[in-house]
Amino acid sequence: MSQRAFLGLVALGPVDPEILRRLRIALTKFFGLRAKVLRPQPLPEQTRHIVRQQYHSTQLLEYLLATNTSGALRVLGVTAVDLYIPILTFVFGEAQLNGQAAVISLYRPRGDADGTSPPQAVVLRRLLKLGIHELGHTFGLGHCREEGCLMGFAPTLEKLDHKNLAFCKYCQVLLADFFLERHISPHFKKYEGILLPDAAIPARESARKRRR
Ligand SMILES: [Zn+2]
Ligand SMILES: [Zn+2]
Repeated sequence: MSQRAFLGLVALGPVDPEILRRLRIALTKFFGLRAKVLRPQPLPEQTRHIVRQQYHSTQLLEYLLATNTSGALRVLGVTAVDLYIPILTFVFGEAQLNGQAAVISLYRPRGDADGTSPPQAVVLRRLLKLGIHELGHTFGLGHCREEGCLMGFAPTLEKLDHKNLAFCKYCQVLLADFFLERHISPHFKKYEGILLPDAAIPARESARKRRR
């Protein structure tokens, strides 16, 4: 592994290219690793549950790995359909712990399940949090109990919105060690305080940032 290590973003089925673009820029800033939008893939029909009308996220991870020939360090699938695993009614995303693939869904962050239509900045912020969280799992990070840490478990949008767009200091150290041990060289090692390009941050949060 070298400095050329990069993250690959793969649309699974139709996804707004602008969302992918913004996600790519923000992930690059957060992890200090280059991110590329890779060739989109169709949603495999066999991963769709005909009764639930959702897609099996674990099977999508396997599909992502099977179809990825890019050489990306990690692949993050992004889809607009709702995801599930058999024991849960839905999941926002899933990742292979210490593995290569992760997947996130736009379906709930953009309010498709509850009929709300939040502003695009909110949707992007949610999606970025999910992407960072799931990629964090692929980098060996488990769920964290530190207040506000992005590696905390957030099963609802409300909890997701409450989390910081940052890793706590412990997760930052774990991530830096993970990269160091594998000779991956991010451009910086500060996994916090990333702003979405062109997206306003809530006033409460900007006030907190100034106090730091
Ligand atoms: Zn998680
Ligand atoms: Zn943490």
